[in-house]
Amino acid sequence: MGRRKATKKQAQKKSFMEPLDTLFACPFCQHERVCTVKMDYKLNLGFIRCNVCQEDFQTHIHSLSEPIDVYNDWIDACEEANN
Ligand SMILES: [Zn+2]
Repeated sequence: MGRRKATKKQAQKKSFMEPLDTLFACPFCQHERVCTVKMDYKLNLGFIRCNVCQEDFQTHIHSLSEPIDVYNDWIDACEEANN
């Protein structure tokens, strides 16, 4: 008399979420994960700053903006400045 035991799926342990998605590589000093983004949804402003060379940048954001958008704006601005 075999009662089928429902195979229990082992819940995979989620790795601890590190807040790495707000840390970006710096286009000036080339260090990885040294630029911190701050999102101010009240003022609609995003700030990014490199913790190594202290370069910073700010741009307009909206309620759906993410830190990567601020970073991309920064990179665009850098490329424009280089042209
Ligand atoms: Zn830097």
